Amino acid sequence: MENNSQRRGILCVVSGPSGSGKTTLCRAFNDEDPECSYAISCTTRPMREGEVNGKDYHFLDEKEFLARVEAGDLLEHARVHGNLYGTLKSSVIEQVERGQDVLIDIDVQGAALIREHQDPGIQASYIDIFVMPPSQEELAARLGGRGTESEQDFALRMKNAQEEIDQWPHYAYAIVSGSREQDLQKFRNIIHGERNRASRLIIHQSA
Ligand code: 5GP
Repeated sequence: MENNSQRRGILCVVSGPSGSGKTTLCRAFNDEDPECSYAISCTTRPMREGEVNGKDYHFLDEKEFLARVEAGDLLEHARVHGNLYGTLKSSVIEQVERGQDVLIDIDVQGAALIREHQDPGIQASYIDIFVMPPSQEELAARLGGRGTESEQDFALRMKNAQEEIDQWPHYAYAIVSGSREQDLQKFRNIIHGERNRASRLIIHQSA
């Protein structure tokens, strides 16, 4: 008897407060792993210096964003730190169905919406990881060190961080952030293990 297997892709939601290192982690794993893609979100947040439209985000104004919501193009959306953010269905669903793993870096509200999604395909693919900063001081140092936020935005992000951290028990996995390499190794372990989950395997048996 011969067993040939295919699998559904993993829809991997990664959350954590701003400055936890989650975006860097997702991008580092995506760069090294050919079975994986990183979903580019839409946002109404102003573009930061060095960001590229269509690479970091699809930058939209509020009217364009709400039109995408109205058209049913988004899997989830939420207001985060005063701006709208949302995941495009077109960056996730087809990919997962053809066996590609998709990483989405979204806030705790968006994660809760996808976790409760009724679609059986999404449920079968879904896993989530919370990236936990090692301490408040380290979080403030990382967020400040980026130099991308105004003073006001920095204060808002620090204030929202505790509310986000309170949500970590809802996640299947938590990575307490250490060095980049340590975080990446933990991330690899999770995804490589999840790729063998029996419920996602489609096994063709032949005599
Ligand atoms: P930033 O402005 O620093 O790029 O992102 C701010 C927050 O928005 C981060 O917590 C990030 O994970 C979250 N975020 C990014 N894209 C999405 C999205 O598509 N949906 C939701 N709900 N949150 C997102």
